[in-house]
Amino acid sequence: MTRFGDAGLTKSAPMAIFRMEQGGGLGYLGWARWTYQDKRPRGGMKFPYKSRFRESLAALRSESRYRVFADIVRRRGAYPQASLYENQQSHPVTVWCSNDYLGMSQHPKVIAAMREAVEQAGAGSGGTRNISGTTHYHVELEAELAALHAKEAALLFTSGFISNDATLSTLTRLLPGLVIFSDELNHASMIEGIRRGGGAKRVFRHNDLADLASQLKSVDRAQPKLIAFESVYSMDGDFGPVAGICDLAEEHGALTYIDEVHGVGLYGPRGAGVAARDGAMERVDIIEGTLAKAFGVMGGYIAANGDIIDCVRSFAPGFIFTTSLPPAVAAGVLASVRHLKDSDVERDALHERAQRLKRRLADAGLPVMASASHIVPVLVGDAALCKSVSDALLHEHAIFVQPINFPTVPRGAERLRFTPSPNHTDDMIETLVRALDQVWTAHRLARAA
Ligand code: PLP
Repeated sequence: MTRFGDAGLTKSAPMAIFRMEQGGGLGYLGWARWTYQDKRPRGGMKFPYKSRFRESLAALRSESRYRVFADIVRRRGAYPQASLYENQQSHPVTVWCSNDYLGMSQHPKVIAAMREAVEQAGAGSGGTRNISGTTHYHVELEAELAALHAKEAALLFTSGFISNDATLSTLTRLLPGLVIFSDELNHASMIEGIRRGGGAKRVFRHNDLADLASQLKSVDRAQPKLIAFESVYSMDGDFGPVAGICDLAEEHGALTYIDEVHGVGLYGPRGAGVAARDGAMERVDIIEGTLAKAFGVMGGYIAANGDIIDCVRSFAPGFIFTTSLPPAVAAGVLASVRHLKDSDVERDALHERAQRLKRRLADAGLPVMASASHIVPVLVGDAALCKSVSDALLHEHAIFVQPINFPTVPRGAERLRFTPSPNHTDDMIETLVRALDQVWTAHRLARAA
């Protein structure tokens, strides 16, 4: 029998013609997929799997959007220094694009806590949360995160992506008729969660309260609603209008869901995030965060009232049917969250470093984009040039910064996204500015007006 692979198409099934579609539906990933178009007579040639996969990749390459991962190992205690592995050799590089914003992945307290937990509990958790994977480390960390956000409870996930995906898709199933109002620049994980929930979605213009208000007005007051937005939009570095969104939510009877992935640890008293900084934390119903960026390790979470958390705990497949985080990861995060609750040193240093870098880039006439936050984007405006600038920085100046291309940012807005940390010294900043200046000239790129 002719087999048409695991797609279940057998010789008896009609032959199909497939058409490739491309788009940006998955935000960070972009996608290319083959869709069933119409029917051909039975029998004939097998489906050309090999060429179809290759064509998908060729399409990415032709637009300079094919991703090449730099193979690096960071040097403990020397962050942001790392070794780049290429052609069986390694070279030192300075990392300028990590989301380890505060260098907490290197913090002695975090490393000690992880080591101790490995010694005590071993490597893996051994199961899903329900089947022996709830360790005392997980329980303590959830209590700590709930306290950080002054909420009744918190729930851990294996990543920030999964927290958004699992929670938003589950809320739609729990609240039939739910309409989700989603900022147009929301992260792929929120878009995916909303899509998988299968409910109604209204996209409002980025940070546009008037547009959000008019869209809220158009939905029946009695219908369940949720507004999903971010506190820091990590490609432009601007803040979400937390208090304004809460005002509208209260007026129209909507729940609020904030992604604080680029805010927790970095803003607000004790690092509780932008909503806390803006005095609006208690007004937000569900706070989502990551443990992988400012907290320096891995995992994600939501914090909310006890019933919401219990519902997501009880109904979200993305929480229930997967092995829990390793105990050492939970222990490391716990040490990190506790440290950053008590210490402003890292936060203050990060914001000072970001200001300095923005100033020095502007002094050199480089097109640093306006950003109120710790993120420092520099506009290139073309995918191929962006990749070429990034390659030149890596190979000629030992500086690693990833190109940011469509669909992560719109076409024509391709950029380099610098993320300074407290560990980036004045010397590193000067070296970076000099290197960028040279590469900019060599590529004949536009300077700031
Ligand atoms: N939300 C936003 C806004 C993000 O930028 C990211 C990751 O970059 C995530 C969620 C996913 O977080 P994690 O990396 O923990 O999966």
